[in-house]
Amino acid sequence: MILPTAFTDNMRQTLSVTDYPDFIHALSLPAPTSIRIHPVKYNNEHPEKKVDWCHLGYYLTKRPKFTLDPAFHTGSYYVQEASSMFLCHVLKQITFRKETLRILDLCAAPGGKSTLIASWLNNDGLLVSNEVIKNRAYTLKYNILKEGYSNVLVTNNDPADFGKLENYFDIILVDAPCSGEGMFRKDPDAVSHWSPENVEKCSSRQKKILADVLPALKDEGHIIYATCTYNDAENIDNIEWCTKTFDLISVPIETDPSWHIIEIQRKNKYGYQFYPHKLDGEGFFISLMHKNKESKSTDHRNKSYVNSLQHLSKKQETGMKHWVSSEQITFLTDKMGTVHAINSDLKDEVQWLNHYLRLIYCGTSAGVFNKDIFKPDHSLALSLISSKDLISFELSEKDALLFLKKELQYVDTPQTSWIRVTYQGAGLGWIKNLGNRINNYLPAEHRILMKLEEE
Ligand code: SAM
Repeated sequence: MILPTAFTDNMRQTLSVTDYPDFIHALSLPAPTSIRIHPVKYNNEHPEKKVDWCHLGYYLTKRPKFTLDPAFHTGSYYVQEASSMFLCHVLKQITFRKETLRILDLCAAPGGKSTLIASWLNNDGLLVSNEVIKNRAYTLKYNILKEGYSNVLVTNNDPADFGKLENYFDIILVDAPCSGEGMFRKDPDAVSHWSPENVEKCSSRQKKILADVLPALKDEGHIIYATCTYNDAENIDNIEWCTKTFDLISVPIETDPSWHIIEIQRKNKYGYQFYPHKLDGEGFFISLMHKNKESKSTDHRNKSYVNSLQHLSKKQETGMKHWVSSEQITFLTDKMGTVHAINSDLKDEVQWLNHYLRLIYCGTSAGVFNKDIFKPDHSLALSLISSKDLISFELSEKDALLFLKKELQYVDTPQTSWIRVTYQGAGLGWIKNLGNRINNYLPAEHRILMKLEEE
């Protein structure tokens, strides 16, 4: 890997004489592979080596072909770089009370941190997971639906759109688009896009993103700022700028010295830097700030808005009991007839948020009614709310892969009609058993195209 001179000069200044060669050497080594397991869905042996700062994180000894593991498609784990799992530790430091939390993940695609937050919330509170770039927002939606919770909304908005939700979120995560220095080892393309001018451009864009979203932070809320880069302009300088410009104070994060995370301190501003030569993970920066303003309450429910999500008819509502067993779910339907299943305590807020934001996924997409006949959505099969009384059929690894390739022809069961197929106990999708053959309802866009090993 040929590194830009301006980058190496900067790193030489940042690191000590002994650290610098170690850092350069680490960039020539393969990046470790790590996964974060789903607290409810994962039903396999836990890998041996744990990630120190995240109780759900594990290192794998080699990188498998994840596409060819059906458990990857059920959402039983998420492949996530270990340093960024530190978010789990930061969330635990902020609070243990999750029930009423409103969290925004502003720059969320592909969904590593949002799926971590969803797991941590474990269906309490609300997570709004946002991505401004449309096609990336759809990738995010897919990863969120695999998590299977009913307290997450996926939106496709510009940061400035959140300014209207004044004083609303308890926690905002800004995992900002950056120059990607910490990804050089994993993504050599990042090297070719790097330049000192781009670092400056990123730094200005990050300030604009922060300024745009800050009105949406509650008066006593927390903002978590993260990048996957090393330079000060995108990291500690931005923290200093935030604390000078807004009512924010920088908050230190407790770390264990054995984790080898470097604390950057500038006066009373704190940032935490992850280096690949110090720990098993990629380059990453994270910092926590607290809004230092006397709390005033804003009652968002008093604002008028158009309700574009409607309740189901009584008959449809009753019909849904067959598919969803939870009592704590409210069903809302949109103009297209899609039924969204959302935790009942969120139903009014969701209506209100839908007025201000471009919602592309809401709780769990349960399915659609055609007159009174219900067709379940793929998301419902992968969700944690699908009824335990539904007919399900456990597939072997081979059949699960054939299902994912849309080549499974037959399942050996006398049960006909809708069947939720599972792998290692977790939902994989829907089939309709017609006796001598099946219909496979896996959405075409989720079909795997990779050749199976024995083909
Ligand atoms: N949080 C994600 C995760 O853990 O999987 C990674 C986020 S990535 C570092 C930054 C994201 O910001 C990208 O998805 C990118 O599309 C988005 N982005 C780019 N420009 C943006 C802007 N001006 N405002 C907000 N987000 C932006």
